[in-house]
Amino acid sequence: MDLRQFIHKIPKTETHLHIEGALPWNFLINLNPAKYPGVPFFRSPDFRYENFTQFESILIEHALEIFKSADDYHQVASSVFKEARRQNICYLETSFHAGMIEFLKIPGKEILEAIKSAAPPDLELRVFLGMSRNAYTPYLGPILENAIDYWDGLSGIDLHGPEDLPLEAWTPPIWKRAADRGLVLKAHAGEFGPPSNIAHAVNELGVKRIQHGVAARESENLMMQLIEMGVCLDMCPISNYKLRVVETWQDHPLGLFLKKGIRCTISTDDPFSFDNNLEKEYQACIDKLNLPPKLLPEIAKNGFLVSDLPHKQKNFFIKSIDQAWAEYKGNGEGR
Ligand SMILES: [Zn+2]
Repeated sequence: MDLRQFIHKIPKTETHLHIEGALPWNFLINLNPAKYPGVPFFRSPDFRYENFTQFESILIEHALEIFKSADDYHQVASSVFKEARRQNICYLETSFHAGMIEFLKIPGKEILEAIKSAAPPDLELRVFLGMSRNAYTPYLGPILENAIDYWDGLSGIDLHGPEDLPLEAWTPPIWKRAADRGLVLKAHAGEFGPPSNIAHAVNELGVKRIQHGVAARESENLMMQLIEMGVCLDMCPISNYKLRVVETWQDHPLGLFLKKGIRCTISTDDPFSFDNNLEKEYQACIDKLNLPPKLLPEIAKNGFLVSDLPHKQKNFFIKSIDQAWAEYKGNGEGR
């Protein structure tokens, strides 16, 4: 078994995936082959975005061609989940963007149900509602309130969007109520924003699952706090490189965080925009970030450890990872 086979074989989790950003490119080809020939410039291997605005505008422009109804979410999710199972992803957390509820004027609960019903029986799926820092509009505010109190089948909430917007007053009470109802709390922080955004998410929103968290490396105190509180960083190395969150691959802090004892997972974020998949993320940890292969089973296990799966099921996946690692090492290839 070589490393590529090991990566493919182990049960994996994906815990940071935007369903709109996971739109498979072939949906656009099927929609209009003349308009979408070949590989677009932003999916070429060496492309890096100039900034977040460019990334966001390209993604929105294309996503709005496809996402028009709850059934469109179902079709895309079915395709995404099938591809996830092909890579032996066994547990998947995905979010959908609350702004789309207002933009498309579709009931959010229908979108939630459309995504959930797309999961194959052998995929453990958790769906999150992603809210931008300025999501609480007169239209959307009451819907968000209703969602956290009453939507069955919602696993958690996530704070989305540009980090230069302030944390608005509506946010902490919503995160508190979601926690009281047993929902999982996430927030995008420390991607383009400073370490204080991570501290705000942890201390003011009670978040234990930071999406990205790259900026934590700038603060020893914050890194200590993340370890003490058992906060997990759901990181996306290829996304961070392509969006210039890190200047060079070697600059990525995943290895540093793991060495310090911060729990980290890896995911793809928006595979539509980066032409990545989870197996490429694992491979990039070795080829680009120069991590030792022995960290790959640790990363994979972290995904199951932070999941809400029953103890027995977690142990089953962790044991499978250990067995595959022993087999890989048995070939004299692991270090
Ligand atoms: Zn994200």
